[in-house]
Amino acid sequence: REPVLEIRNLNVDYGLGDDAVHAVREVHLTLHRGEVLGLAGESGSGKSTLAYGATRLLPPPGVISGGQVIYHPRDGDPYDVLALTPKQLRAFRWAETSIVFQGAMNSLNPVHKVWVQLTDVIRAHTPGLSRPAQVARARELLGLVGIAADRLEAYPHQLSGGMRQRVMIAMALALEPQVVIMDEPTTALDVVMQRQILRQLVHLRERLGFSVLFITHDLSLLVEFSDRIAIMYGGRIVEEAPSGALYRDSLHPYSHGLLNSFPALRGEKRELSGIPGSPPDLRAMPSGCSFHPRCPKRFEPCDTHVPPLGPPPDVPDAATRTVACWLHPTAAPVG
Ligand code: ATP
Ligand code: MG
Repeated sequence: REPVLEIRNLNVDYGLGDDAVHAVREVHLTLHRGEVLGLAGESGSGKSTLAYGATRLLPPPGVISGGQVIYHPRDGDPYDVLALTPKQLRAFRWAETSIVFQGAMNSLNPVHKVWVQLTDVIRAHTPGLSRPAQVARARELLGLVGIAADRLEAYPHQLSGGMRQRVMIAMALALEPQVVIMDEPTTALDVVMQRQILRQLVHLRERLGFSVLFITHDLSLLVEFSDRIAIMYGGRIVEEAPSGALYRDSLHPYSHGLLNSFPALRGEKRELSGIPGSPPDLRAMPSGCSFHPRCPKRFEPCDTHVPPLGPPPDVPDAATRTVACWLHPTAAPVG
């Protein structure tokens, strides 16, 4: 399969020097054309930081301290998103890759009707379009996400949380990007609504052919709807596999624990039932594998050496998956 977005050795810090929090560490992650890739991990594992770093939307004091994000446009040569000028970046966002933020449903402008906000996005990138054509496009976009056209005249407060979320998705799809990143606000949307939204996104993906990076705490949702799943812990990807393989036969003890726990609905740092202990303090990361203090299977090398991410040596479907665990020491680290 062809890659559309390749995150290579990405490192993101908050702050500089000794006080820096290393929120994303040496992350390699590839999104392929047309696929839904799920990203899961406990609160604070670096999921949002990874998404915002890769799209250059990091808020200060976030800094990208290394890596590349190679984007493959429909036509033309691949390029590094991290090397784009601010002007190129403005053209890239929405049109090539769009992102629906965590809590985005509350980022609609309360004083403007839905149609105004939708046509703003459309107009910013296709200035020549007539007003009626812009409104027609806005209506079409709402239809795509299952919202009746009369809602164009609504103000955000007149919509339910789920509808506002779908308006945000409509905005994200407005310019037919190849990549849609959705950072799911687990805190604000209930599980039933998350499921509806993800189902709709998967359906639209089939019709329109974009790729999705879907971020959530809720691994069961990803098992159901995504093609592949990546698991993050302490700023690193610790396992990546096709959804079915991850569900049936996860290799990393952390993935295993996540699969056996209920999602933290409130997004708080709390103990997962399957995994005692709490997520690591990024300012004082454990040595070796950062999961080792909580790992039921730790042994000799785990507290001294960081296990590299790569294909496991000992499973039949090794070519389709990677893991960073000394139980399955890879012979071919990624990157
Ligand atoms: P959640 O599931 O709660 O959304 P997450 O996996 O998206 O969590 P991030 O928001 O990426 O996690 O945060 C990763 C780490 O970076 C956390 O330890 C967090 O405290 C830290 N962090 C995030 N934003 C900032 C900031 N603006 N300044 C300093 N540290 C930050
Ligand atoms: Mg987040």
